[in-house]
Amino acid sequence: MKSLKIEVFGRVQSVGFRPFIYNLAKKFNLRGYVKNKTSCVEIVVQGSNNNLSKFIVAIKTQTPQLALIEEIRYSQEKVTDIFSSFSIFESEDTETFFLYVPADIKICKDCLKELFNLEDRRYFYPFINCTQCGPRFTIIEKLPYDRVNTTMKEFKMCYECKKEYDDPANRRFHAQPNACYECGPGLNVFNNKGEVIFELTKSYQDTKNVVNFIVEKILEGKILAIKSYGGYHIVCDATNDDVVYELRKRKYREHKPFALMASSLEIIEKYCIVSNFEKEILHSIESPIILLEKKQITNSYYNISKYVSKKSKYYGFMLPYTPLQYLIFEQLKKIKDIPLIMTSGNLSDEPQSYQDDEVQQKLKDVVDYFVKYNRKINIRCDDSVVIGFDKNIYFIRRSRGWSPEPIFLNYRYRKQILSFGADLKNTFCLAKDNYAILSHHIGDIINLETISSYMDSIEYYLKTFSFKPEVLAYDLHPLYNTAKIAKEYANKNDLLEVCIQHHYAHMVSCMIENNIKDKCLGVIFDGTGYGLDGKIWGGEFLIGDFCSFQRKAYFGYFNILSTDIGIKQPYRNLLIFLYDKYKDVKLIKKIWQKINNNNTDKCPYSLEELLETTKFLLENNINIIKTSSVGRVYDLVALMCFLGLYNHYEGQLPQLLENECNIGKLANFDDVEFYDYKIFITDGVYTVDTEYLLKNVFEDIFFKNQKVEVVSTKFHWTIAKISVDIILKLCNEYNIKKVVLSGGVFQNKVLLTLIYTLAKCSKFEVFWHRKVPCNDGGISLGQTVIADNKIK
Ligand code: ZN
Ligand code: ZN
Ligand code: FE
Repeated sequence: MKSLKIEVFGRVQSVGFRPFIYNLAKKFNLRGYVKNKTSCVEIVVQGSNNNLSKFIVAIKTQTPQLALIEEIRYSQEKVTDIFSSFSIFESEDTETFFLYVPADIKICKDCLKELFNLEDRRYFYPFINCTQCGPRFTIIEKLPYDRVNTTMKEFKMCYECKKEYDDPANRRFHAQPNACYECGPGLNVFNNKGEVIFELTKSYQDTKNVVNFIVEKILEGKILAIKSYGGYHIVCDATNDDVVYELRKRKYREHKPFALMASSLEIIEKYCIVSNFEKEILHSIESPIILLEKKQITNSYYNISKYVSKKSKYYGFMLPYTPLQYLIFEQLKKIKDIPLIMTSGNLSDEPQSYQDDEVQQKLKDVVDYFVKYNRKINIRCDDSVVIGFDKNIYFIRRSRGWSPEPIFLNYRYRKQILSFGADLKNTFCLAKDNYAILSHHIGDIINLETISSYMDSIEYYLKTFSFKPEVLAYDLHPLYNTAKIAKEYANKNDLLEVCIQHHYAHMVSCMIENNIKDKCLGVIFDGTGYGLDGKIWGGEFLIGDFCSFQRKAYFGYFNILSTDIGIKQPYRNLLIFLYDKYKDVKLIKKIWQKINNNNTDKCPYSLEELLETTKFLLENNINIIKTSSVGRVYDLVALMCFLGLYNHYEGQLPQLLENECNIGKLANFDDVEFYDYKIFITDGVYTVDTEYLLKNVFEDIFFKNQKVEVVSTKFHWTIAKISVDIILKLCNEYNIKKVVLSGGVFQNKVLLTLIYTLAKCSKFEVFWHRKVPCNDGGISLGQTVIADNKIK
């Protein structure tokens, strides 16, 4: 007889891994034990050589669906204890190097079957779950992941549930949130005055009443806040113009598209074009919101209200992922199988509400009813947002379903690094050994609410992952809140700190996740990032590796307002451009009139007022800054195309410009039209003459009355061609073959496609993001790698 100790690392806790091992051991007649350690699952087995080998093979080949084995370590154990059977031991609380917190996962097929099985004791139970599904990250208070360390600790399991929980052969063996009508959480409903409409549900009948009530109110045109895994959603009928308009008014959110949820793929396909790969994403266990192209005609099925996503080319759709969402749609579709709005329950610019008292206070003027439950959410986690690109998931927001699971890298950190990310679309990142834990989406760190949520989240992660940062990394921008917080933190805890240029961090994020370690070229097109020369960068061609970078080309500087007003009201930047370029007040007046006549957006100021300010600021060089930002170039071109006067949310105008673009089938490049452009070289650095390009676009529209669709398409092709032009020059000069594309502008699928297509005919290889977003949500990953290389 032989004894063997096996340690399994990876996603092996709370995914049914121990019962899997237990059953295997029984099958191969092995004795010993399995237990969770904080870093791994430890197995000791005794038995014949032959059976031990079969056992090891089976661990690798029959792994449960949710498990992900990263590494298996073996050691021969001296036989001191002889085991008489195989058992599952309690978790051990020892501090080691790897801690794993599983993400929240959509309800699984087995649980779904039970949910709608009349005979099952959990028929219609909104909190049904098992080891393969349900909430995890959002209910965990600390590790190891055992019931006593979750918000389920308040619920004492009944006899039946406990039996399942203790039975290694049961699929609910150690399913931490295991519960039923008798012992688990229930739903309750309140109106917006805080009065109870339904007491906590305890039975099928109670639940049925609540679900019927929800559906009835939705169809009556009411707005509800409904608690989900990671926070509250605001829910209403997406096909009812009046209620969607009312929601926009109540939420003070006039423009940003609302996310949608539908009962099935078939319903989504009535409104959107869905590729096979996109279907896979919709049905995946992570169940994110996916941006899908709208269909032209909606087959006269119930029309989605025009107020859902006014001008966008896409709808953001997801399928139900909690049992309660399934119950609601099951009832709803019997009457009217319509999509529902399922948007984050927050006030503008604030984080999503997730605490039951807080939500009642915050959303009382937005919703009519609150559907709550008494299982607490320990930490908020928004829905993820993705698009499908070239058979890859392309993240816009990486959160529920993925966070906070580690991203394993082919790179070994020397130190424990904590990076603070950027101020917008923030995520922060903990990194050590060969993995990085990117936080869930925190949001924009721009007001007291978000700053405090940000700091709480960092504390929570450090505690939960027993993480002791040795080095801190943050953005170079002197006015970033995240940078200020990081510096204070470094001072207080006497830690090493590294401050990192924004676009370099974008570039390294994309390098590390594509496993590129050698010198490469980063094409970083972005909104705003603080440059090494104190100017606003955002149209950058950087050559570098993990240790350093050089700026080898950029979009030549043009003037914009130095404050954020210019981003939200880009017409001010357009006036700066026009005045700078033409100095002809008569001409500007004509243009301004045309822009205003062709716009639904209205400007509250007279042109005289605006021009006077513009002149004053330019002549005295006050509040004016130079920028190379491609995001701002997009703003200006969108404005010239009469697509609006404001960016009501980040990237609105650039998105509208992308929508106008028509690149056809990309089969024939001969008919492609470009704007004329100029590239200069000084001291080995290339600059694009941005103002010359803008002037050509401008004159095409205003002097030649070119159609918007043509302008947008020509403009996109031109940006792609300029990029490839410069890429070819730099790759030749510096003998580089790999190019990474990053920065918020690359959320633009058209531009990404064009550069990718042009690159296919060239000698260089193009890489884009696959694991983290190209926007500022992915920056913290790059920061960790750069910091690790700065401090050796
Ligand atoms: Zn399940
Ligand atoms: Zn129970
Ligand atoms: Fe950025």
